[in-house]
Amino acid sequence: MSINVTRSSLPPFEEYCEEIKELWESRWLTNMGVKHKQLQAELEAYLDVPHVTLYTNGHLALENVIAAMNFSEGSEVITTPFTFASTTHAIVRNGLVPVFCDVNPVDYTLDATKLEALITDKTVAIVPVHVYGNLCDVEALDKIAKAHGLKVIYDAAHAFGVTLNGVGVANFGDASMFSFHATKVFNTIEGGAVTFRDDSLIATLNDMKNFGIHGQESCVYAGGNAKMSEFQAAMGICNLRHVDGEIAKRRAAVEQYRRRLGGVEGITLCPEQEGVKSNYAYFPVVFDGFRYTRDEVFARLKEHDVIARKYFYPLTSDFECYVDMPGGGGERTPVAKHIASCVLTPPLYAGLTEEEVDLICDVILGDA
Ligand SMILES: *Cc1c(COP(=O)(O)O)cnc(C)c1O
Repeated sequence: MSINVTRSSLPPFEEYCEEIKELWESRWLTNMGVKHKQLQAELEAYLDVPHVTLYTNGHLALENVIAAMNFSEGSEVITTPFTFASTTHAIVRNGLVPVFCDVNPVDYTLDATKLEALITDKTVAIVPVHVYGNLCDVEALDKIAKAHGLKVIYDAAHAFGVTLNGVGVANFGDASMFSFHATKVFNTIEGGAVTFRDDSLIATLNDMKNFGIHGQESCVYAGGNAKMSEFQAAMGICNLRHVDGEIAKRRAAVEQYRRRLGGVEGITLCPEQEGVKSNYAYFPVVFDGFRYTRDEVFARLKEHDVIARKYFYPLTSDFECYVDMPGGGGERTPVAKHIASCVLTPPLYAGLTEEEVDLICDVILGDA
């Protein structure tokens, strides 16, 4: 029996069928129908933020919100290379230049103490990532951004439902992007959202995801198509009813991982963040001076049919398409480079059993 790194959350089959039934009557399958509107309102409430715009995936959500800020071509955006390809691509595909900032060695989010040294007269924005669901140092980033007149757009793809002292993660910065991909804590099969507080962004984002069409006979710019369909929205409505339960199940698995792997020599775990309610999206384990290297642990797990992931290896700045840029290759981000070389995320999803977590830990520790 194999254990995959993740397993998508799904509502009961009948619940989804019930939810999509009226689409057969209305024949309104996409273009901001009733399901789209309902999910948007429910997410504004759940994420505790005034505005949510829904997208067909998280990547286009990030591309669109960066585009909506109207930065001039060739401007610099400070970001982390310790992330999924999407973050860096969204910057580059907008004609902007990514400037890679190192991460801090505790929670692997963008190191706010290294940010100011990278700001030039071309810098227009910061795109930090709440990586693994770990909250960035939002206060420090906000302060630096304000002092230098920079926008802050969070890649919050991993941070659905995370709060700091009761405040939803979507309330920090100028905007945040969430991914509702099948593998994320909350999914709409494929999907995503931008959250923001500034009312003036509502029309821009809504137009942008629908070809730039504004009203029946007007097109205000060359927008693409990034709309969420009614079937995606219906999946979101169902999954949202169950998401707190799914997070609680993830939490139980994470607590068991912590009991088994915490305090073991050569294994480093991210500490729980003070005041933060986690969503237990991922459980990064760093093997530094352990009896096996990260790659050996990965291979041993595979022999036992357990599929782990080297999230995030390589750094995006090590990708063929970025390695020759300034800051490519990761030599300016030594902490990120090091963590990428020794981190592993073992399987984690709602419904991972106690026996499975025990087996995975036995293999990691060398007892199986
Ligand atoms: C999943 C993810 C994305 C992209 O989201 P999609 O919905 O798959 O397009 C962006 N950034 C990070 C960090 C992610 O993990």
